[in-house]
Amino acid sequence: MKYYSTRDTALRMESAEAVKMGLSRDGGLLTPVAIPQIDEAFITGLVQENYQVRAAKVMGLYLTDYSYDELLGFANNAYGTDKYDTTAVAPMRKVDDNTHCLELWHGPTSAFKDMALQMLPQLLSAALKKTGETKTACILVATSGDTGKAAMEGFANVPQTKIMVFYPQDGVSAVQEKQMVTQEGDNVGVCAVVGNFDDAQSGVKRIFSDETIREELAGKGYFLSSANSINWGRILPQVVYYISAYCDLLKTGDIAMGDKVNFCVPTGNFGDILAAYYAKRMGLPVGKLICASNKNDVLTEFLNTGVYNRNRPFHTTSSPSMDILISSNLERLLFDLSGEDDALIRTYMTALATEGKYTVSDGILASLKDQYWGGYCDEDGTFTTIADYYKNRGYLIDTHTAVAVNVMEQYRKATNDETITVFVSTASPYKFGDNVLSALGETPETDSMALIDQMYALTGVAVPARLAALRGKERRFDLSVEKAEMDNVVHNFLQ
Ligand SMILES: *Cc1c(COP(=O)(O)O)cnc(C)c1O
Repeated sequence: MKYYSTRDTALRMESAEAVKMGLSRDGGLLTPVAIPQIDEAFITGLVQENYQVRAAKVMGLYLTDYSYDELLGFANNAYGTDKYDTTAVAPMRKVDDNTHCLELWHGPTSAFKDMALQMLPQLLSAALKKTGETKTACILVATSGDTGKAAMEGFANVPQTKIMVFYPQDGVSAVQEKQMVTQEGDNVGVCAVVGNFDDAQSGVKRIFSDETIREELAGKGYFLSSANSINWGRILPQVVYYISAYCDLLKTGDIAMGDKVNFCVPTGNFGDILAAYYAKRMGLPVGKLICASNKNDVLTEFLNTGVYNRNRPFHTTSSPSMDILISSNLERLLFDLSGEDDALIRTYMTALATEGKYTVSDGILASLKDQYWGGYCDEDGTFTTIADYYKNRGYLIDTHTAVAVNVMEQYRKATNDETITVFVSTASPYKFGDNVLSALGETPETDSMALIDQMYALTGVAVPARLAALRGKERRFDLSVEKAEMDNVVHNFLQ
């Protein structure tokens, strides 16, 4: 399977090269030239298999320059019981007869980013060998909290890689910060940036596009790469769990082969819900893809009107991993819906860069509306949903998951669609304990460990072992810089 850029379909490369590059030099996203198809026999063949085998079989359809044994080995490393607190890896929880939850936060950092970031470093490491690369990959990450920790956890001590993470000084939760500044590993670095996530992100983007820095780094034996969800190596492992969820519903008899299910996904950069779209395009019986946003409702407006307009206030919310105004992965969806029209995509993305907005064609809007339903949930709605789920269903969910639940209910009211719906739970409630406790009417502690204790005392819900283990951990990093200083941080890190 070859890969090409959403902005230039003439450029072709193997998957190892695509994983290594992360982003195409023309600014486009690297995307498979065809979407492999699965049939009922393929799905049936996965039902009795464990998650690791499902992952190797699904990923093998796209990564044809990796062997099945290689991929199975990676999956065993990524999703074993030393990393995940359940052998199911991505377990389903039945909420009622037509509502199920796909829990994706049982990995080492208690957020769904682990599902991909336990896999990506292994794909990248193998890609360096396959392409004969001698330089060291330097992964630069801007994070609103979850990606940074999950990426460090995945890349810690991986040979021929180094990873530097920038996070907004006042933009991450107490637990997230504790997780990051205590990260172990000889090849990791962490730095706070004065400002919000956009400041950290634009700093990283500036370094990426600076040719002088690139050349300097090349001289020292480094090249820059990305672990953000624009990398195909992050999207693909996410396709697996949608297919796996379907297999689990078959296994428990909650659905019969061929029955459609809807997926409702709390969305920021559009990576997770794009993976659901690929699963559907591969032939998985999926009905609607419900795109749930928080108060940053740029995607809701887009799915309803076809106008993508980032010229709007940026809201800092209790679901910070979804506080995003530019959902990068949307570009892959538009590319697919336009019939791989790279020229059209260039037009849209130029308009986005220069005017902050673009409007898609009527044809694309019609397909968007056919496949997706978009809704958003404000802070009140988020908090009310957490309280409601806990009090009435005994299910403690985090703020991001609550946005999904709230929007799923809006969808049901608006459409009367009774199709079985799976909503995606992207983080453990312990990661966002302050807001979850507020939603339950408590006054949250400020210290990260005290918060965890407080939540456990109130709810009795098991604390993820890796979060409990933060208690004794020493702070390893306490660097904090202005945005303009980020280049220096990278230079020093790569001495
Ligand atoms: C990253 C993240 C999201 C958003 O996922 P995207 O792929 O960026 O749309 C939602 N919830 C949590 C907890 C996250 O960490």
